[in-house]
Amino acid sequence: EPARTGVHAARLAAAYADELARFAADHPRCAALAERGRAHMPYGVPMSWMAKWPGGFPVHVAEASGAHFVCADGHEHVDLCLGDTGAMSGHSPGPTVRAVAAQAARGITTMLPTADAAVVAEELTRRFGTAERPVDQWQMTLTATDANRHLVRYARHVTRRQPVAVMDFCYHGTVDETFATLDPDGRVVPRRGTIGAPVPPATTTAVVPFNDLDAIERELATGTVAAVLLEPAMTNIGIVLPDPGYHEALRDLTRRHGTLLVVDETHTLCAGPGGCTAAWGLEPDAVVVGKTIGGGVPSAAFGMTSQLTERVVASVGLEDVDVGGVGGTLAGNALSLAATRATLTEVLTDDAFVAMERLAVAWADGVRSVVERHGLPWHVTRLGCRAEYAFAPRAPRHGAEAAASDDFALQQYLHLQALNRRVLLTPFHNMALMSPATVDADVDAHTRAFAEAAAALVG
Ligand code: PMP
Repeated sequence: EPARTGVHAARLAAAYADELARFAADHPRCAALAERGRAHMPYGVPMSWMAKWPGGFPVHVAEASGAHFVCADGHEHVDLCLGDTGAMSGHSPGPTVRAVAAQAARGITTMLPTADAAVVAEELTRRFGTAERPVDQWQMTLTATDANRHLVRYARHVTRRQPVAVMDFCYHGTVDETFATLDPDGRVVPRRGTIGAPVPPATTTAVVPFNDLDAIERELATGTVAAVLLEPAMTNIGIVLPDPGYHEALRDLTRRHGTLLVVDETHTLCAGPGGCTAAWGLEPDAVVVGKTIGGGVPSAAFGMTSQLTERVVASVGLEDVDVGGVGGTLAGNALSLAATRATLTEVLTDDAFVAMERLAVAWADGVRSVVERHGLPWHVTRLGCRAEYAFAPRAPRHGAEAAASDDFALQQYLHLQALNRRVLLTPFHNMALMSPATVDADVDAHTRAFAEAAAALVG
């Protein structure tokens, strides 16, 4: 009897064992580096998530360029993970590298603005604004986490309300309020894996399923919700696309109940130069962008409407502006701004997105043809230049449904199998991202590996 995923557990286990042996044989130098790292780093890595790669130890990178990287064992890989979006620009794009090198020699951080600041704010305004409701006031942070955290604070401050509403199975960075999920009885509880929650999340957070307008209306009708924070399409539990009309109705409801609408475009920048906000004509009160806008150099930003900005500025006095929980010493530093200006104006350009999207379509078509050939009960979803497959026959409508289709063992196998064929996928999902440097041959390398995997599992 095959499992729900269409794959026999015993066959999967045998195939995974083969891949583990191949991985170890192929990577003696990476294994030695991993061993050395275990002496002084928990999990042997500088950031705990890096332990989650399949294979028992992570490949160590010697060099990354464009859509490829070379590991310490000298193998060249196609990178479809791209630093889980941090390198959606491609690795070390020329304009960013030149701007960073020039700025590094002229001062890295002074806690003073440089001329690049206004250029970046203008470019972000051009991308995310609509004529009727411009998002035209921007602040820089180093991470998308910080941008989200700051907007949550501003939202509470100006609305004088406490709870924020998020989507079940969301991810917005290490923002305390967002580590909440619904239990089977509909109560707000810590999401599995939550580490050291500061307070029970029900005290700070309302949780609703994505695409469920009745649920969000019930929460907003209490008149106590400061902000709704959401990705316009969920991307962190796999991709979950909004129903037609969902965003329009959500906007109406938030306006009616005096709740701010914060759209986190950190991942959904994949939908185009202005994310889903521009692609779908959304009208948020605030937008978050991060990860990739500095071409890999830490840089993120949040944009607000001028109406929201007026409320913020009117309620935060200059004397207290540095102690209120918004801002950071290194945020808006000269190096990040130089990198962001170059990346936005010369790398992740409007034209680049057209080519990136075409490649994601090709990737999705390739995977879909293999899935159909083998009759696997899986589906493929795409949002702009990001695409993924999931182990369920139909696209999910909310996070819990997406989570239910997960199969960790199968995912580990597919990722390791691809890695052994020199293709890197994001460790947390079966997702591929296209950069301006990605080419058709990179997509084809994945399709070939995936066809081989399907044949090994069910052929
Ligand atoms: N928002 C979203 C939608 C994300 O996917 C992430 C990271 N995966 C973040 C925010 C946080 O980004 P960072 O870890 O760079 O702070």
